[in-house]
Amino acid sequence: MKRGYTRLRLVTPWGFVLWSLLLLACNSGFIEYGTSSEPNQTPWPEDSTNNDDIICPITDTVVDPVVVQKFQDNEEEYEAHAEHYRVIVPAGYEQIADDLLPILPTCETTIENFLGYCRSWSEVIVHIGLYTSQKSKVEDGVVYLGRTAHTLSNWIERDYWGQATGPCGGDNTLAHETVHTFQTAHAPAWLKEGQAEYLAAVVLAETHYQCDENDMAICNDAECTTYPYWDLSDNNWQGGNKHLYYKTGTCFWQLLTDEYGGEKIRNVARSLAASPLEAVGNFPFSAETNALIINHHFIPYLGDDVWEKIARFGIEPSSP
Ligand SMILES: [Zn+2]
Repeated sequence: MKRGYTRLRLVTPWGFVLWSLLLLACNSGFIEYGTSSEPNQTPWPEDSTNNDDIICPITDTVVDPVVVQKFQDNEEEYEAHAEHYRVIVPAGYEQIADDLLPILPTCETTIENFLGYCRSWSEVIVHIGLYTSQKSKVEDGVVYLGRTAHTLSNWIERDYWGQATGPCGGDNTLAHETVHTFQTAHAPAWLKEGQAEYLAAVVLAETHYQCDENDMAICNDAECTTYPYWDLSDNNWQGGNKHLYYKTGTCFWQLLTDEYGGEKIRNVARSLAASPLEAVGNFPFSAETNALIINHHFIPYLGDDVWEKIARFGIEPSSP
């Protein structure tokens, strides 16, 4: 099995020792898999306060993010920066950059604790631009938030970022998109969207997912709505059902975290980032690529009984 864990800089020697022992045990077959399904209900923020085992960075290649102009061309821009953090905004909206900049370090640290590793980009960059509607995405390590002039003015009027509290300023979109800057290109879209949304909506926010055998109920303070699971081996979502694979992917991560606990799930997350399956891309995904991903990243840490738990999402060992 190919592993990319050489030349890691770790936060503490203990993290190194534990991680090395774990890898040694895994590679040598010392660990008996498949017997550990005892539920661990510890929520992640409490569960992850011990950051001794954060691998930083996760690969031995640290890359500079590439900033491009994604929104209205030839905007004059203002940039706020400190250490390895940068926020770029259109001229006239400087306050947004100045207020958002100090939010980025805790956003980064929170996600490091959640995933168990540091990303492999040398800088944290948020690029806000004027756009005709709302568009959020990540490309080459940069978070892009396209917003209308009305929205940007509204942020300043409400002091939206200045008043923001909590990791990632309590902003679901910033949290979600920032998780994407930690992820590999070699994992299916539903897995990555589900992981980002699980952190942003469930761990850091008030949304509650109840992931049952046949469907999921998604609740906020006011009400719950029940949705069918999307078949995660089906990437054809004609008819406006794309949101269902985000939601089903969120249930996938929540269910496994509740079943196996944050520590084991962090090992899976590290494996996804540090030992990417080159044969699998973001999209399209299929029953075959799903089986490859589960076998490579999940079974070694969670055991074979993971299959029966994720069958409800349309993920099966392999096609005949
Ligand atoms: Zn996303």
